[in-house]
Amino acid sequence: MPHRAPVNVLVVNAGSSSLKFTMYAMDQEKFLARGIVERIGLNEPFLKYERHDGKSFKEQALVSTHEEALELVCAKLVDPEVGVLASLMDVEAIGHRVVHGGENFHDSVIVTNEVKNNIRECSSLAPLHNPPNLGGIEACEQVFEDVPNVAVFDTAFHHSMPASSYLYAIPYDYYEKFGIRKYGFHGTSHKFVSYATADLLGAPLGELKLITAHLGNGASITAVERGNVLDTSMGMTPLNGLVMGTRCGDIDPAVVLYLARRGMTPDDIDRLLNKCSGLLGVSGIGSGDMRDNITASQAGNMQAQRAIRMFVQRLVSYIGSYFTILGGADAVVFTGGIGENSVYIRDQVISKLGCLGCHLDPEKNRQTLGKPAIISTSDSKLKAIVMPTNEELMIARETVRLLTIPSKAIPAPHSSIPSA
Ligand code: ADP
Repeated sequence: MPHRAPVNVLVVNAGSSSLKFTMYAMDQEKFLARGIVERIGLNEPFLKYERHDGKSFKEQALVSTHEEALELVCAKLVDPEVGVLASLMDVEAIGHRVVHGGENFHDSVIVTNEVKNNIRECSSLAPLHNPPNLGGIEACEQVFEDVPNVAVFDTAFHHSMPASSYLYAIPYDYYEKFGIRKYGFHGTSHKFVSYATADLLGAPLGELKLITAHLGNGASITAVERGNVLDTSMGMTPLNGLVMGTRCGDIDPAVVLYLARRGMTPDDIDRLLNKCSGLLGVSGIGSGDMRDNITASQAGNMQAQRAIRMFVQRLVSYIGSYFTILGGADAVVFTGGIGENSVYIRDQVISKLGCLGCHLDPEKNRQTLGKPAIISTSDSKLKAIVMPTNEELMIARETVRLLTIPSKAIPAPHSSIPSA
């Protein structure tokens, strides 16, 4: 017999110096309160808090650890003035974002000591993310003693990729010995928008071929065939693929060797390619933010114009490639800060997709206002869709799914389409 579905689900996303939270009432998939504690362990930490009725505030947070940050969040959630729960006992389950599940995790899991050890083992693949993600889980275990925790991995959705997509063309031993392969990221977002697009189109995801483009500061694109990932642009790390705010994306690996031979250290090259490249590096305007680059470009800055052309060209080239390996597609889906909000970038990209049967309706493109919308003309064979992502809600749904179905009955990942 399935367990009763948890209703009050807390979603936690713990970063190195931040703790983001959303409290959901999952019987209506409604957020009750959300916010973030930032600058944990640094000077002047603060809390931003927003309640479902619009009440919001920002205040100084006297915390220096993630556990203290969580205690502060808990105090607010039950505060008579700004709270949304009568008692902390009302929290029935906690879902956590975990960036890297390596090869261990093909699906979300209920946290156990073994799971924590496995997440720790994956830390070498995501040294900046997995340790704080685990710290968030441990803080919740301390504060909420008997409440189940579920880990939801950014990499899990991509586990259905075939070996021909996830292997690099280097000797196979390197995959076996060191786990060098493509893992993919933003999986929770790609999964959310895939299901949401199926809803919008009124078709089962199992019958659709989609190209989902998550375009934020980090950006990735995924070919989704009937709910399974066929390929994705990020690789063993989130550096590969599209041109991003500060990351280079695809680059000839020999560039790295060349720079190393010229005396740059691995840390120097890491900083160059992750923090100083992409829109920031090409435009030279001191910002990798797309809005700043569009403003500079429209003011006539030729380097910013070039940076945007590169961003668009790389994206179009991936769309063409994924359209081909999918053997045609039903829709290309735009999400993330740029994908959801930039009328201009969508226009630039879609105007190059005519050969795939995708034609922009400029009026629909202008009027999306952050809502799900089809922005291609009604006779387009390949639809263009804007779909706001909601990774927190996806994590809450996964948490409910894991805790409602007895674990033995959870289908093998992607052997069938779960009803998330
Ligand atoms: P993150 O990857 O950090 O979560 P977001 O998904 O919030 O980031 O996306 C941030 C990016 O979205 C920034 O480059 C920002 O400039 C861009 N963006 C947000 N709104 C717009 C807009 N109206 N036009 C163009 N770009 C936008």
